[in-house]
Amino acid sequence: MTESPRRYAIPSVSSILEMPTVRALLADHPREIVLTAIRALLARVRDGELPVGNEPVPSRGGTADAVVSMLPAEVGRLESIPLRRVINATGVVVHTNLGRSPLPAAAIEAIVETAGGYSNLEFDLEKGERSSRSIHVEPRLLALTGAESVHVVNNNAAALMLCLAGLARGREVIVSRGELVEIGGSFRIPDVMAESGARMIEVGTTNRTRISDYERAITPDTALLLKVHRSNFTITGFTGDVSTSELSVLGMARGIPVLEDLGSGAFFRFSDAGISGTPTVRESLAAGADIVTVSGDKLLGGPQAGIIAGRGDLVGPLKKHPLSRALRVDKLCLAALSATLALYEDPRDAARRVPVLRMLTENAQTVRARADRLVRRVKALQRKSSVETVELSMAVVPDMSSPGGGAMPGVEIATACVAITHPALSPHALERLLRTGVPPVVARVAHGRLLLDLRTVAEDELASLAGALHDLRLRPESL
Ligand SMILES: *Cc1c(COP(=O)(O)O)cnc(C)c1O
Repeated sequence: MTESPRRYAIPSVSSILEMPTVRALLADHPREIVLTAIRALLARVRDGELPVGNEPVPSRGGTADAVVSMLPAEVGRLESIPLRRVINATGVVVHTNLGRSPLPAAAIEAIVETAGGYSNLEFDLEKGERSSRSIHVEPRLLALTGAESVHVVNNNAAALMLCLAGLARGREVIVSRGELVEIGGSFRIPDVMAESGARMIEVGTTNRTRISDYERAITPDTALLLKVHRSNFTITGFTGDVSTSELSVLGMARGIPVLEDLGSGAFFRFSDAGISGTPTVRESLAAGADIVTVSGDKLLGGPQAGIIAGRGDLVGPLKKHPLSRALRVDKLCLAALSATLALYEDPRDAARRVPVLRMLTENAQTVRARADRLVRRVKALQRKSSVETVELSMAVVPDMSSPGGGAMPGVEIATACVAITHPALSPHALERLLRTGVPPVVARVAHGRLLLDLRTVAEDELASLAGALHDLRLRPESL
């Protein structure tokens, strides 16, 4: 039988703010940080994780005292959060909040090589004269995409903004109502369009758009036909879409270029690995898109970048557009992108050495073997430990991972997870303990259990992950 959760009297944020020790804290620390710290501690009280110790504190005042006693440490913790390495045990491969693509080793080496000294970033060593920074990635991108011309900017949002501003400012861009997407944060197609100075002409409906809808909307002022990849959702049921090739037939007949925002845009044939529905950039261009934009750090698996590829007469002028200077990529990005693209020369090499590709294509048995190794490591630490600790129970279970990050909506990949249960803590409490530990481990709660999905955990992270799980048993909150 499980015990019913203990109930604590929860003090209000304002009552805590008025306590003398807190006022003293406010004199030395920003109010926002103190408030965030109070809210975080109260949330833990609510979840039954606080106060520390075995006895619940029955009165409102007692709980407030306990919260206040932990406040300086919590404020200190909040003030010292640097950008740091975390272990992604969510199984979401392209996880935007966790930094999207872990870079290939070759890309990291290229960054290190370039970062510490001067480089031939914009200097032709043969001729001894100034050159363009894009030559470090252009030949490879041209070869991989089959495009006439390419241009690299800061990210895909910048790539789309530049295309719209450079090719359609003050003119009309036709887009389907089913593709007016929000990718997350502040990226919404209508807003990007407005900011670029292009006029958006919506056609069709949310679920169905026909080629005749585009056709009827064309005027002498139409600059582009825009197609946007539905990166993070699917529409099912009574639906209808216009394909890139249909759109291109119309565009060609009327002399209007087709711009396709591919978002995740693959450079690897995922269909060969049994994951269908994700066309490569080359396939989109071959299907008739005149110009496409893609992210560097989604399915490509490289650094944050936006790649514009397409017809020379369209891409060429964008390179000289005034916005291009504001959106340009730095040398570290170019070093990493160039090294990542080099791995794509041999697709089998790419599948092994680009972490995003490796994680997406790894089969469930291989993930399962890693999950077994993790469990063995934790048990070994347990045997060596002299401290009496609570029993964590661990089981390797099948589940599904998701590609994530605006890539392959609706696709799920069979995986293996370590399910963890604790005799006294809820899965959510365990999740929070792992997330706030060292190293931070981000996991997911599903089916009433804490799940660590080993698809996104690298072999060289197993030791520190095992350590974090072992520590969990020793953390005061879990005693
Ligand atoms: C992800 C995405 C973007 C934004 O790309 P960033 O590289 O994050 O700027 C734009 N459009 C689509 C369709 C996307 O999937």
